[in-house]
Amino acid sequence: MAVDPASLIIDLPDYPVPGVVFKDITPVLADAEALAAVVDGIAGRFAGRGVTKVIGAEARGFIVGAPVAVALGAGFVPARKPGKLPRDTYAATYELEYGSDALEIHRDALTPDDVVLIVDDLVATGGTVRALVKLVEDTGAQLAGMGFFLELAFLNPRAAIAEVTDAEVFSLH
Ligand code: IMP
Repeated sequence: MAVDPASLIIDLPDYPVPGVVFKDITPVLADAEALAAVVDGIAGRFAGRGVTKVIGAEARGFIVGAPVAVALGAGFVPARKPGKLPRDTYAATYELEYGSDALEIHRDALTPDDVVLIVDDLVATGGTVRALVKLVEDTGAQLAGMGFFLELAFLNPRAAIAEVTDAEVFSLH
């Protein structure tokens, strides 16, 4: 029987700060069947929607987002931490479950003709996704939706996301 990717997640209490239970998904990435199930699950949900670009945030959004892009026949746009991209950028700040940060994309990475899917390994507060939604909107591109492996529903990310977009939110677990 196929492995359930969620069964491979390791919970780490009080990491990286007291009170947070960190979900270590690296065992999912390391398992060939589980990784394929995650990629196929997200890509399958958004197949046939005309997605031209997948956008993912540094760093685990790259790992899951790029193979989803390949599966959809789309390109991949990396959203990077400040100062990493060499040309003109759009920037968006966001709150993390523990701290705050900013993300940037190249200004020419998306155009109004693009249909964009946001992909990440995990959605917690929704702060990262809200920043990605803003970056997509800055370019004038159309947002097709967003797909995740894991949703920490107790943090209510869907409410935070619904404040900024009515695009589809899909999570495998
Ligand atoms: P959010 O911005 O609060 O939704 O947090 C989601 C982002 O933080 C994603 O890019 C995740 O990779 C990362 N993240 C937050 N909490 C965890 C966790 O428990 N395990 C792994 N990644 C996490």
